Amino acid sequence: MCGIVGAVAERNIANILLEGLKRLEYRGYDSAGLTVIRNDELHRERQVGKVQALADAVAVNPTFFDGHIGIAHTRWATHGEPAQRNAHPHVSGKVAVVHNGIVENYAELKEELLAKGYEFTSQTDTEVVAHLINDIYKQTPDLLEAVRTIIPLLHGAFALGIMHIDSPDELITVRLGSPLVIGVGIGENFIASDQLALLPVTNRFMYLEEGDIAKLTRNTIEVYADGVKTQRKIHEIDATQHNADKGQFKHYMLKEIYEQPDAVGRTIDMAVEKNETSKLRDDFLQRHNVLLADIKHVQVIACGTSYHAGMVTKYWFEGITRIPCSVEIASEFRYRNPVVVDNTLVICISQSGETADTLSALRDIQKQTPTGLVSLALCNVPTSSLVRETDIFLPTLAGPEIGVASTKAFTTQLTALMLLVLKIGVVQQRMTHDQLSVLLDDLRKLPGQLHASLNLDASINTMSE
Ligand code: GLU
Repeated sequence: MCGIVGAVAERNIANILLEGLKRLEYRGYDSAGLTVIRNDELHRERQVGKVQALADAVAVNPTFFDGHIGIAHTRWATHGEPAQRNAHPHVSGKVAVVHNGIVENYAELKEELLAKGYEFTSQTDTEVVAHLINDIYKQTPDLLEAVRTIIPLLHGAFALGIMHIDSPDELITVRLGSPLVIGVGIGENFIASDQLALLPVTNRFMYLEEGDIAKLTRNTIEVYADGVKTQRKIHEIDATQHNADKGQFKHYMLKEIYEQPDAVGRTIDMAVEKNETSKLRDDFLQRHNVLLADIKHVQVIACGTSYHAGMVTKYWFEGITRIPCSVEIASEFRYRNPVVVDNTLVICISQSGETADTLSALRDIQKQTPTGLVSLALCNVPTSSLVRETDIFLPTLAGPEIGVASTKAFTTQLTALMLLVLKIGVVQQRMTHDQLSVLLDDLRKLPGQLHASLNLDASINTMSE
């Protein structure tokens, strides 16, 4: 998961790009780069390693990067080693491109472009995108049109940020299988892979849908879906809820470990009556009672840590409700043409709600349209694609998780999954009143027990010295 940041503004944007990249560092990356248009030229810097190395290189001659439009990138190499020449942005003639994801058919496209005389300076799949746009723009000197022409040629899942020296007021972006959000400013607009990157400059966001292409200028945002101009809502978010500050802690992961009692407590409160000992809240997933009543099989699809939460829930579903439950890694599921039986509840688990394999597996199942299919997103980000594309949203109330190794997102996933098992157990009358009250009692004790274990920290430290 790498990162894109882009800006078109009245003010100089290099520092906004660098700050945005720093805020995306949690996603992991091997190199970083940025390009701005200044005096009709592309000014580019790329470095292997930390965003700070890029910032240091830019700081050597900062005025060189003064510009009102620019794109930046942290790369997680898929095609070609981590090296300066493979770092983004990639440039072809007057075009610069940043890219998240993979262009699966890049090899054929590269052959064609080589035959036309284009020279490749990197080993990436991305460079074909820059050359293709350059090529089309020569015949159709309209950047949006050029991008729209080449997108159908690309197979894969990706997000793009694109600019051209001859259109120095336009930033084009594409969202097709990788997250991309537009940050809406006053007299300035932005793009990023995660809104977290743009919180210093705006709290108003437009979430693109799959396949959307957008053109941003300082004062306008045009979004196109299937070639037709369309509207996407602007969401104003409460930036205080997205506090990504480390506070007193040495690093984010430690902070997030300590946030577990509250996060788990919040997740439990969403479903459990405070004062009653043996009851789920009436309003917990109430709208979906009818859907959940007919479920005969559960299929969990997830990747990484979320997959592990799924493996635990299999024991709960089968042990407590006797409903059969299968769990599979999304990247296997989506490539093996699986059978989905009727009346299946498909649970897609993803912290971000943007995990490409999980989304793709979900879409494949939806195409099969088995009878009685119910899809549920267990997710930490209410505005994510996964939430938009499923019937039921079961939130984890973990707050943003910046640490790469999952902590509170995992424990809140487990909590929410247990609540879901209990909900289905109740709706389908598969558990006794006593069973429910014992499990609810235990769940309620969980935040306190987490607190108690974290309080042992000092003694564990002493023992380990
Ligand atoms: N596939 C591209 C590359 O290898 C982009 C990888 C990424 O998402 O960072 O450069």
